[in-house]
Amino acid sequence: MTTRIYLSKAEVTEVEEKFVLGALRSGWIAPLGPDVDAFEAEVAEYVGVQGALALSSGTAALHLALLEVGAGPGRVVLVPTMTFAATANAVVYTGAEPVFVDSQAVDGNVDPQLLVQAVDLLRAQGADIAAVVMVDLFGRCADYPEILPAMQERGIPVISDAAESLGAAIGGHRAGSFGRAAALSFNGNKIMTTSGGGMLLSDDLDLIARCRYLSTQARQPVVHYEHTEIGYNYRLSNILAALGRGQLSRLDCMIERRRAIRERYVEALGHLPGVRFLGRTASGRSDHADNCWLTTLVLDPRLVSATPTMIIEALAAQNIEARPLWKPMHLQPVFLHARAYSNSVSIRLFQTGLSLPSGSGLSDDDVDQVLLAVEACLKVG
Ligand SMILES: *Cc1c(COP(=O)(O)O)cnc(C)c1O
Repeated sequence: MTTRIYLSKAEVTEVEEKFVLGALRSGWIAPLGPDVDAFEAEVAEYVGVQGALALSSGTAALHLALLEVGAGPGRVVLVPTMTFAATANAVVYTGAEPVFVDSQAVDGNVDPQLLVQAVDLLRAQGADIAAVVMVDLFGRCADYPEILPAMQERGIPVISDAAESLGAAIGGHRAGSFGRAAALSFNGNKIMTTSGGGMLLSDDLDLIARCRYLSTQARQPVVHYEHTEIGYNYRLSNILAALGRGQLSRLDCMIERRRAIRERYVEALGHLPGVRFLGRTASGRSDHADNCWLTTLVLDPRLVSATPTMIIEALAAQNIEARPLWKPMHLQPVFLHARAYSNSVSIRLFQTGLSLPSGSGLSDDDVDQVLLAVEACLKVG
């Protein structure tokens, strides 16, 4: 029996063991401590922002960021439809209404023109827009150089959902440094992990301080537990922050490994008719570097008879995990009645795309095995 090949499995080494053991032995168990402070400082420096707040999840980071820009009942927040549900759920937690915007074909990120159109149309209809959330899909930065000035002109704050994109960059700035605030995720299958966790990043230290207070049950700085507003229990534990520090120390190596795996996929499959890799373009900006979190194929059904579903099933039969892109939010039963600005690109990507095993822990033999299985599917017909 061969071992299962996962889509994006967490990879931990003795480096992480040392950090976690150190935290356990330091006595800083419950719940904050020096590893939390150090983890925040190290991530802030890596990304290039002034402030960081370690939290229990990326979703918590999004929730707090949205509260800080005033998202709430009676207001709307624009969200890319091609994303994980957490982005839209966080909007709903605040009481605001998510309005979905479709993708551009090249990388699945939000279509900048459609986004600007949607903002202007909503405003013309009298909508009160609290914020726009951008998502860096599968580790590739959204088009911030185009979108940030357009939103600034309109006085709309941008929140960056960088849950998938730590280590990526565009225009010389790293993912997590764009907009009023950004959210990172350290969930189990992300580019690096704390087993579960997230971080809020911002250059606005007042925003970070307020979110720090909200994330610790909005406890006033007095001894007798005084509360003047509703807070949350959203902090990351010191033990998990230690794991995060170990992962961060190896992040660039893990990204390099993911990049090497992608290059092998591209080399083997990129020349096949009807096969393209999401986010790879001949005309792309050279300063748009993705972190290779997931490598995603898009198949042209006119040229390739195998469908993503067929390939995913064939791989599953060989104990290899592959999966479709995120199912667009405006097609999800829970958001069926939400407003959406669609150009049907996201639906097409959902129907014709699949992500291949991309984790940094994959061996060359694992990648060979995936390639053999995918090639067998693509050659049929
Ligand atoms: C993983 C993810 C999140 C949520 O992060 P958690 O840490 O799991 O809460 C949010 N947005 C996107 C785009 C994600 O991929």
